[in-house]
Amino acid sequence: MPSPSPSKAPAIVWFRQDLRIDDNPALSAAADSGAPVIPLFIWSPEEEGDWEPGGATRWWLHHSLSELAETLARLGSPLIVKRGYSLSVLRDFAKEVGAHAVFWNRRYEPAAIIRDKNIKGALVKDGIDARSFNASLLFEPWQVLNGKNEPYKVFTAYYKAATALVTPPAPIEKPKQLLAPAKKLGTVSISDLMLLPKINWTEGMKEAWKPGEGGAKENLEIFLSGVIDNYTSDRDRPSVVGTSRLSPHLHFGEISPRTIWHAVKEIDKSPQGREGKSTYLKEIVWREFAHHLLYHFPLTTKAPLRPEFERFAWRDDKQLLKLWQKGQTGYPLVDAGMRELWHTGWMHNRVRMVVASFLVKHLLLSWQEGSQWFWDTLVDADLANNTLGWQWSAGCGADAAPYFRIFNPVLQSEKFDPDGKYIRRWVPELAKLPKPWIHKPWEAPAEVLKAHGIVLGKDYPEPVVDHSFARNRALDAFKQLKAVPVK
Ligand SMILES: Cc1cc2nc3c(=O)[nH]c(=O)nc-3n(C[C@H](O)[C@H](O)[C@H](O)COP(=O)(O)OP(=O)(O)OC[C@H]3O[C@@H](n4cnc5c(N)ncnc54)[C@H](O)[C@@H]3O)c2cc1C
Repeated sequence: MPSPSPSKAPAIVWFRQDLRIDDNPALSAAADSGAPVIPLFIWSPEEEGDWEPGGATRWWLHHSLSELAETLARLGSPLIVKRGYSLSVLRDFAKEVGAHAVFWNRRYEPAAIIRDKNIKGALVKDGIDARSFNASLLFEPWQVLNGKNEPYKVFTAYYKAATALVTPPAPIEKPKQLLAPAKKLGTVSISDLMLLPKINWTEGMKEAWKPGEGGAKENLEIFLSGVIDNYTSDRDRPSVVGTSRLSPHLHFGEISPRTIWHAVKEIDKSPQGREGKSTYLKEIVWREFAHHLLYHFPLTTKAPLRPEFERFAWRDDKQLLKLWQKGQTGYPLVDAGMRELWHTGWMHNRVRMVVASFLVKHLLLSWQEGSQWFWDTLVDADLANNTLGWQWSAGCGADAAPYFRIFNPVLQSEKFDPDGKYIRRWVPELAKLPKPWIHKPWEAPAEVLKAHGIVLGKDYPEPVVDHSFARNRALDAFKQLKAVPVK
């Protein structure tokens, strides 16, 4: 490593969804160059195409950037924050500071790929060493292809091929210190980005989360110190902390999948724990699969991967959509999930599947309406994972749930929230209802409802649709679709 020299032309590190110091290849490459390092964040939401960050992710970003700024200042070089078009900000700023290099970690969303390619070309033309690195995936999306050199559309085949192809490299160490540029540079403050909402609806998120690299490490530690042992069964129990709760941290790059992968591999576990480990690592690879699909099928954020679904006549009913969004469908598990989402910015995976299936199959409202709502309200809103999740649920994506799999929200509730603990937490108006009825209050005898002071239709809604009717209607509608080969 060359010895650090403040007189060298500086290297800019353009932070985006890699808001961490550990295992950050762009940051380490800049530090290793021996030049002063200028960490830079540019707020440019309009460059995200149809997918400008939603309210919940903006809240997260504010706090994550604040933590990153503190860490970078401690390391020696403060974070510079700018607003504007990334290309012009980078070119002007590189000129202003006399930078010899701009390094960044890759993003894989369609709009970001196009933008970053342009930026790289322009910077290279300006004589700058513009380099990008892989910081957020175990496998590059173009690395894993089938025998015909085509992308995989089935997870199991993808998983086998990806894990046989490469062992994810070990995470790289964080720089011990950063050399600051000789002169003080202008920056806007993080508050000036106006990421926090004007009306404060974020109390629940504040209680549930600690955005930033520190919070990511804490969640990983909690998960590895015991939760992972029972992951195979507990990951389907929304009332317990049975999963890692790392999704927003992964989305913002506050922890790398390589760090998680190797940390999980290294812990020594009992046979039960070993099963938890391998199930968990598979989920991490689902995230890779989602990025693989988004990279190869970039139109799927809006359009179904299976073309026959283009003809599906989704209903347009804004009132029904609103009831679903607000957790007022009359199905307790669905409502609990939608309220957990609204309050904490997150929803348990099992419940995500149930509410998504309910929207597209029971209500016949489009998966795009659902994915848009999730986009605005999830702290882990992620274009790759959200697209995969919704296309899977609607049955129109890769390796998707078949059209005849229609989750019964009552059976799902009885199976995965048997005591109704999750429902009681998020639907407090039903909290006192005894066990058999908590999952289906409309079947409760009148005296039971009365004894607990519940008037259906007043304190809690009647179901917006009857399950059997909705199931048959969905089966009929989906059966009409004739498969057309995916291009
Ligand atoms: C309709 C729908 C929408 C979804 N939208 C998103 C989204 O916007 N952002 C998001 O991160 N996840 C999304 N998911 C996937 C999944 O629900 C979350 O990743 C998971 O609940 C996060 O909790 P966790 O970190 O505790 O997960 P864990 O069970 O601890 O899993 C660890 C990590 O693996 C990855 N992962 C787990 N399950 C999946 C999956 N099914 N697909 C892709 N990656 C997965 C996530 O990065 C997760 O953090 C969606 C799922 C559905 C059904």
